[in-house]
Amino acid sequence: MAQAENHNSTWGKAIRAAVQNGRLSHAVILAGEGDKVQAARYIAAAHLCRADSGRPCLQCNACRKVLDRIHPDVTEVQDNERKELPVETIRALRQDAYIRPNEGEQKVYLFTDCAQLNERDQNVLLKIVEEGPPYAAFVFCADAVHALLPTIRSRCVELRMDAPPLDAEESEAAAELCRVIARREPLALTAHLTALENRRLKREQLLPMVEGAWQISADALLSRCGKPGACGEAARMLCHAFDRRQLQELTDLFRRYCDECQYNVGVGHVLGALGAELSKTLSL
Ligand SMILES: [Zn+2]
Repeated sequence: MAQAENHNSTWGKAIRAAVQNGRLSHAVILAGEGDKVQAARYIAAAHLCRADSGRPCLQCNACRKVLDRIHPDVTEVQDNERKELPVETIRALRQDAYIRPNEGEQKVYLFTDCAQLNERDQNVLLKIVEEGPPYAAFVFCADAVHALLPTIRSRCVELRMDAPPLDAEESEAAAELCRVIARREPLALTAHLTALENRRLKREQLLPMVEGAWQISADALLSRCGKPGACGEAARMLCHAFDRRQLQELTDLFRRYCDECQYNVGVGHVLGALGAELSKTLSL
């Protein structure tokens, strides 16, 4: 049941789109309200699923083993006895990561409570997150992302589980942005972004707009790849205007800007940089 909810959530869709593009990050932070441990297993399933498409399928042998917590290549790292994980545990994990996977293509480590990782633990982990073997993947469940060192965070993609569903106005702003992009006219795009800035778009409105645009471009990409799915008008326009590679880059760009919106306070600055990158990426 929980996994069905994950499947339909905004971030669940984002995970499947990332797998589809071969771009599921090897290191993910799950933040925000929700059942993060279930979600972490969902991501582990995405890494190990054997289905040809729509990964994680939650049906195949590998997915079922992950969800039943019996997959030999998934390790849930936690210590029920202690408040913090002893550094020896992390050192052992680091060694374990260099032993090739048993059954799957990847080995996945789930940190079910990042509050258990003290600074020393994280410094030991950093090296392997940064330059571990290519098959090693990590999911960090964090009630407070600030529990993680900036050095670790900068190596991870952060997914918020409680991103609220877009309200009508915000989803319209995202759709409008995508429609303007689909027109492939640099001047129209600049004018649109400038108008947003002049209207004094608030920082709280910027993130939902960019997240909405990310979702729309991911839908357009899936549709381009021949995956049926709910595809709105704006996504169809993007799909007609750009090829698969461009849609992939557009999706990546919006995903990066979701981070940018969280860290960068200047709305005008973010919009300006977004406009410049969009024109470059899509050769408008
Ligand atoms: Zn599967």
